[in-house]
Amino acid sequence: MMSDSFRALRLNKNDDGQSHEFVELTENDLMEGDVTIAVSHSTLNYKDGLALTGASPVVRVWPMIPGIDFAGTVEKSEHPDFKEGDDVILNGWGVGETHFGGYAGKARVKGDWLLKRPAAISAAQSMAIGTAGYTAMLCIMALADTPTDAGEILVTGAAGGVGSVALALLSKLGYQAVASTGRLEEEAYLTGLGASRVIDRNTLSEKGRPLDNEQWAGVVDAVGSHTLANAIAQTKYGGTVAACGLAQGPDLPASVMPFILRGVTLAGIDSVMAPREKREAAWAQLAEHLDLAKLDAMSSQAILDDLPDLGGKILAGQSRGRLIVTL
Ligand code: NDP
Repeated sequence: MMSDSFRALRLNKNDDGQSHEFVELTENDLMEGDVTIAVSHSTLNYKDGLALTGASPVVRVWPMIPGIDFAGTVEKSEHPDFKEGDDVILNGWGVGETHFGGYAGKARVKGDWLLKRPAAISAAQSMAIGTAGYTAMLCIMALADTPTDAGEILVTGAAGGVGSVALALLSKLGYQAVASTGRLEEEAYLTGLGASRVIDRNTLSEKGRPLDNEQWAGVVDAVGSHTLANAIAQTKYGGTVAACGLAQGPDLPASVMPFILRGVTLAGIDSVMAPREKREAAWAQLAEHLDLAKLDAMSSQAILDDLPDLGGKILAGQSRGRLIVTL
């Protein structure tokens, strides 16, 4: 093994389909970029599960090192904002999809994609947050005009990554957060994160009425499909629904009635191409408001070798909270 080599999980595709392998690479194998990072941690998001299993065409360049997030330390930089030794994080920008990602000991990317890691958050904690947690923050930023006394905020996919971080943040910010889950056995976990009560996701997952009883002052939805349609139909006058996910499905079988009769706002949330200022604002708010004891309570640990199996589990809804991958 060469001394500057590092281990990576690589996805390949041929006529027989998709496969993975663990490989030793050197910096010469990395893609173009002006900053090289020694990656210390990555994570597993729903999208990483799609990439690892090939369930959806997330990967568009082959072979690919997946991993849409990473944290690490700058080794070399030709970018004016970064120098050797800087602690950085990366979320999205097509990394793990079209550019080699975080499931490797090193990464080389455009410095424009990197953020300095907030001092209050360790590298491991930044990946416990990851894209899922940063997206939860973006959703809550979209609810900024909702006063904390306006009523309950519904969080769907509550035991998943986005949902778990959203619950912790909402409760810290003073909201009454209601957790919708298919895993009612996780009630203690969800109330521990800050849910004021827990509901069965089956109450939202079937086709419902175009306009339903007003229940939610706001919504953080990671699920899409009928769940999102029902959440919109149950949102109170003037409320905002932040839609970020599709764990139930990408369809939206909804009516315009909640929009035109109740002035409900549907806010689309994208983390991948979100501009730098918005990312910096989200991470600053995460550093300020996320209870790190709750983050630890929702996080489990894994290594590179575990990821192929765990990719299938997250898609099957069997992953609770967040996963930290140590490189
Ligand atoms: P997780 O798998 O961790 O969480 C998803 C949760 O959704 C599950 O834990 C489960 O929660 C619930 N769920 C799963 N299947 C169904 C179903 N058939 N019907 C209803 N609920 C279901 O994923 P993440 O939290 O990482 O991501 C959540 C979603 O957000 C994904 O669709 C992902 O692609 C999207 N996303 C989008 C981003 C963006 O930029 N817009 C960024 C990050 C994520 P429970 O067991 O509690 O019911």
